[in-house]
Amino acid sequence: MRKRTPTEIETTVLLKARRRCCVCFGLKRDYSMKHGQIVHIDGRHDNNSVDNLAFMCLEHHDQYDSRTSQSKGLTTNEVRHFRKELYEVIDLNWKQPIIIGDAQTPLDKSTDDFSEYYEREGEFESAELQVQRLPNGNVKVTGLALWGKTLPRGPNIGELDFEAEIKGNRVTFSDGSLGDEEYRLELLFKKDRLIATEKLVGGYFGMNVSFGGEYTRIK
Ligand SMILES: [Zn+2]
Repeated sequence: MRKRTPTEIETTVLLKARRRCCVCFGLKRDYSMKHGQIVHIDGRHDNNSVDNLAFMCLEHHDQYDSRTSQSKGLTTNEVRHFRKELYEVIDLNWKQPIIIGDAQTPLDKSTDDFSEYYEREGEFESAELQVQRLPNGNVKVTGLALWGKTLPRGPNIGELDFEAEIKGNRVTFSDGSLGDEEYRLELLFKKDRLIATEKLVGGYFGMNVSFGGEYTRIK
């Protein structure tokens, strides 16, 4: 009877491999997602340590499991090495900077925060946007716009917070919950800049507050 791999360990392995087969990658640099299974590298099904488990496509899983001492099958050391290479590439890819159109965060960023920041600075009004790539491929945009910074009573403040799909180098936010009129904001990403075009509903964020305009990326 095959002992079931504990769910937590199974999940860890699946997340590390992202459904990529380490043998496909090791032999052919095939990095595509595969239908597959978790294999026990040493062949012992009761050895469920993460180090002993690897995700393999069905073909390589069968090949690996049916190895005999005579065959020139894959060795455990090869599999471990392939798996190490694959995990390193996945790790690197999943930490890639945000790329939207031709806008790209520099790779020399030394922090774990892969958000981009944009600002539109003025003496009387200003706005800033934070753009963050989510694991599902969408982006999350949060922003703050101020109007009337020099007013004695303080500025009007607008806050933005939405998640949207990237289409080319555009991200669009719209809100039709106000009735007849729809608020719409389109963000166009250029190299080091962001152009925000607003179809404004007066007072959507507070009087005169606007996110429209040209922003510069903060490095
Ligand atoms: Zn494979």
